[in-house]
Amino acid sequence: MSVFTKIINGEIPCYKIAEDDHFIAFLDINPNAKGHTLVVPKKEENKIFDLSKEAYKDLMDFSYRVAKALEKAVPNNRIGMSVIGLEVPHVHVHLIPLNSMVDIQFTQKVTLTNEEFISLANGIASKFEYMTFNKDY
Ligand code: AMP
Repeated sequence: MSVFTKIINGEIPCYKIAEDDHFIAFLDINPNAKGHTLVVPKKEENKIFDLSKEAYKDLMDFSYRVAKALEKAVPNNRIGMSVIGLEVPHVHVHLIPLNSMVDIQFTQKVTLTNEEFISLANGIASKFEYMTFNKDY
């Protein structure tokens, strides 16, 4: 079971931004930049391109809406997107508010307090627009 499945099951905490039946978005605990967010399908799958086309498109749709919320909530020049998965083998999209090239490099990390994480997550969550999905995969 991945660490993200444990978050999805409520076994370990996260700084949640948005959730529906199939996806969850929460702050990366070791962020490249303020607002660095992970978008994760609830069904545990290792590699993004092993998803069905439909699940992939819905992940991109959910990520799009999270990116829109990030754009409004966190100072940025643009929102960057990256998929890696070498550390946690459970599909996730990194969405990172960018102000410079180093923000998308995984060598730079910022340290935030618990209060800063909570306030960031609440600020982003307040800008997220919910829609309903009725998919089953
Ligand atoms: P990667 O698998 O290389 O895409 O990286 C996994 C990402 O997940 C890293 O940026 C970690 O900081 C992040 N991460 C790992 N564990 C947690 C956790 N419990 N909560 C939030 N983010 C996490």
